[in-house]
Amino acid sequence: MSWASKLSKPYRIDHGKKFRLKDFDPGATAQIRSKEHAKELLEKGIAEMADLQDKLYAQDRWAVLLIFQAMDAAGKDGAIKHVMSGVNPQGCQVYSFKAPSSEDLNHDFLWRTSKCLPERGHIGIFNRSYYEEVLVVRVHSDILKNERLPDGLVSKNMWGERFEDIKNFERYLSNNAVVVRKFFLNVSRAEQKRRFLERLETPEKNWKFSAADVRERECWNDYMIAYEEMIAATASPRSPWYVVPADNKWYTRLVVAAAIVDTLQDLKLAYPNVDTEKRQQLQAARAELEKRKS
Ligand code: ATP
Ligand code: MG
Repeated sequence: MSWASKLSKPYRIDHGKKFRLKDFDPGATAQIRSKEHAKELLEKGIAEMADLQDKLYAQDRWAVLLIFQAMDAAGKDGAIKHVMSGVNPQGCQVYSFKAPSSEDLNHDFLWRTSKCLPERGHIGIFNRSYYEEVLVVRVHSDILKNERLPDGLVSKNMWGERFEDIKNFERYLSNNAVVVRKFFLNVSRAEQKRRFLERLETPEKNWKFSAADVRERECWNDYMIAYEEMIAATASPRSPWYVVPADNKWYTRLVVAAAIVDTLQDLKLAYPNVDTEKRQQLQAARAELEKRKS
């Protein structure tokens, strides 16, 4: 088993049946001896990812979709920034999904994200995603009202139906060579408070603070129930969730990097074969170049 597989597997959920959030410790730092060890592994991970991404792009068969969901201040932005620091921007797109626009609200809930799916050979990153539709929309009933669904379609069962729709959508994506991996950055309530206070106390971090985030914090338990049910219902071997410990940022980044490397390694990526005709063309071009003086 590769280091990436070993490090990320404990947090990977392929089957949701027995999934309980309480079994996952936000403060975990398993398998790491020291910060130096972590740094070494992260560098290795980023280098491996760069190499694999180059092949993904050249081979042009698979697309990879990485979805990040979390409570505020869990470190989504930082994880995306660090983990992707080694990849070629040309083969990678990041989309952040905030409150939906009025145009978005005129459509079904998968519409706005569908337009942003990665093309073959590319890595797409969703900073929040259609999963907000079973999180914030579930926790706040007034947001659901904005979606203007007819009465008959709004019921207790609708969340189960949305889970099914998402599962089917991800199945469809995987049948079309879009590999989906989902990350829940699992921060504790205490660590979130510490990070909010830090945002208030550090001038360079003030911009990140929003009063709305504190109000969301009051719904913590509702969110945890929504996350648990969502992960249990939508984890599958082809589109697993990773419940990543998020109280230590350096560990979060390492586990995310490991999960991505493991995913790319599983695809058995390779540079496209050069056929005889192409090889002849390459030889002719080389001879031509060498023949000329300048
Ligand atoms: P983040 O908190 O991810 O770092 P941000 O603070 O820059 O991002 P916000 O202005 O907080 O951005 O926008 C994200 C907000 O949009 C979140 O509160 C999220 O719940 C909300 N949101 C995202 N998708 C939806 C949706 N489909 N329906 C309603 N609200 C949504
Ligand atoms: Mg926010």
